[in-house]
Amino acid sequence: MQAIIFETMKKQAEMLQNKEISCVELTSAYLESIKQQDDVIGAYLHVAEESALATAVKVDEKRVKGEVLHPLAGLPMAIKDNICTVDMPTTCASKMLEGYTSPYDATVVKLLKEADAIVLGKVNMDEFAMGASTENSYYKKTRNPVATDRVPGGSSGGSAAAVAAHMATYALGSDTGGSVRQPASFCGVVGLKPTYGRISRSGLIAFASSLDQIGPLGRSVEDAAAVYKLLSRHDEMDSTSGKSEALSVPELLGKSVKGMKIALPIAFFSEGIQVEVKEAVLQAAKVFESLGAIVEEVSLKGIDAALPAYYLISSAEASSNLARFDGVKYGYRTEDFQSIEELYKRTRGEGFGREVKRRILLGTYALSSGYYDAYYQKALKIRSMVLNEYTQIFEKYDFVLSPVAPSTAYRFGEHGKSPVEMYLGDIYTVPVNIAGLPGLSINCGFDQNHLPIGLQLIGKAHDEATLLSAGFAFEQSKKLWRVER
Ligand code: GLN
Repeated sequence: MQAIIFETMKKQAEMLQNKEISCVELTSAYLESIKQQDDVIGAYLHVAEESALATAVKVDEKRVKGEVLHPLAGLPMAIKDNICTVDMPTTCASKMLEGYTSPYDATVVKLLKEADAIVLGKVNMDEFAMGASTENSYYKKTRNPVATDRVPGGSSGGSAAAVAAHMATYALGSDTGGSVRQPASFCGVVGLKPTYGRISRSGLIAFASSLDQIGPLGRSVEDAAAVYKLLSRHDEMDSTSGKSEALSVPELLGKSVKGMKIALPIAFFSEGIQVEVKEAVLQAAKVFESLGAIVEEVSLKGIDAALPAYYLISSAEASSNLARFDGVKYGYRTEDFQSIEELYKRTRGEGFGREVKRRILLGTYALSSGYYDAYYQKALKIRSMVLNEYTQIFEKYDFVLSPVAPSTAYRFGEHGKSPVEMYLGDIYTVPVNIAGLPGLSINCGFDQNHLPIGLQLIGKAHDEATLLSAGFAFEQSKKLWRVER
């Protein structure tokens, strides 16, 4: 493989700007990397070779003409397959949407195109973003590039694997309960779940609308910040989109960690956590102290209740959002039906996978009359309780430090025996979505099997700058620390 794909995104952008490399060369290098590796890794569901190269030619022409281009212009990237694109299929890794192409581009895709990004293709995921290992994809398995006998995490497993295996400079994922942060952690890359509403959801196929958020995955905090800066802006097509503009990249990365107050929730480290994960996260807290931050232990009691509340709320919303897949308008339609009722039933029975059906059943049950108060209302109460707890913490602290997941990447099938076992892995990520807060996942070490361990920074709403600055400082200090040793 060509050396260029191992360079940082910043270096690649500089080389493009200085015309040391052409965009066609860079794009070809990534396409070659996909050809060489993706039979094993399985990150891509669709590779858009022709359109990627055609766009690359145009970007090169613009540069020759001396046009001022966006800093991300010409960088080849990948998009999770639940984000709508007019010129490629969008399947949500479901049989239900096999061969479906959207009539419009998601707002994020429009922004990428305006910035002259090169879209390499669409990447694998858990069906309709439900899962934490990408094993729920109808189409194929995605392997963790760090250890190919293990899952890449999920549901944005294709996005994380593509970035980790140098098959894209960066990728977009979506995070409803951890799906950007957890695969980033499992594959050893960076993932940012922005504050709810910071990035438009228009054209993101909905799983649970009050929790869903698009986020970038990249090789470094700086990369994630650059993509966040491009995508985080108000969009009239999304009524929940925030009004304020994102800060510039130097501002997003430039806050000093010195004097920052960090909350360390002790409850996160008690049971069910892999020892090496616990040790690496506590070690990271020491690194922040050495950078001049003040770390204090806090109690976060709502955490245990957040998980069941998340599964109730997200499934309730999913049952309503996925009602549109009935064989009439989109995608799959059963061949065998006599009545409209039968068309609905058979289409949904044949088109959806097990996990999706499980969530629809759970959600429909929780919303049905007689159970609504007992389940859905109660979950909403827990939701405000969790939000209140975080609000109180943020009166005193700049951010919360936590693991991303209780373990490192596991082997295929290992968590598939009971769905609840898989759900428990979301314990540290779902409270962030429940409260609508930003969360950043960065690498903080490796376990004895050399598997990456993720560190999660959770911040105040709309304060991505604190997280990105702290994450950036941590990354820099880690590099220095490595050199010194
Ligand atoms: N693992 C969680 C779930 O299965 C989160 C999924 C997501 O963030 N899309 O619901």
